Amino acid sequence: MVDIFVLMLHHSYRTIGEVTLQKEGATVSIILHSDLNCFYASVEMNEAPELKGKKVAVCGSTENRHGIVLTASYPAKRSGVKTGMANWQAQQACPGLIMVPPHYELYLKYSRIVRRIYKRYSETIEAFGMDENWVRP
Ligand SMILES: [Mg+2]
Repeated sequence: MVDIFVLMLHHSYRTIGEVTLQKEGATVSIILHSDLNCFYASVEMNEAPELKGKKVAVCGSTENRHGIVLTASYPAKRSGVKTGMANWQAQQACPGLIMVPPHYELYLKYSRIVRRIYKRYSETIEAFGMDENWVRP
C-alpha cells in the first residue's frame, strides 16, 4: 500500500507543511509539490525591481489576438485582475495596471535555476510546466 502525501511549497520555500504518518505499517511515499506563485510576474519583478509591490500583469499581445492576462502580481490580483482575463477587462478592473509582455526565455532560465536548486536535494524531479515540480526525496 502506498500513501502519497503532497506538500505545497508556496513562493520560494516560504511554507512547507508537516507530514504526520497516521497508518501503521503503510509504505509512505513523500512527494514535494512545488508551485511558484505568480511566476511570470515574479520573474518580471526580479528583473525590474522598480515593479516590485506594484500592480503588474504579464499579458499576451492584443494585436495578435492573444490579449489575455497570463499572470498577475499579488497587488494586481487584489485589485481584481485574474489569469485568463482579457487585457481590456484587466485594465478596467485595475486602472493603472502595468502590463508587460511575456519573456519566455527568461522564464525558462528561472525555471532551470529553480530545478537546479531542487537537484541539490533530490535526483528525482519531475517538471510540470515551467513553474511546477514534483520532487521525491
Ligand atoms: Mg504557479
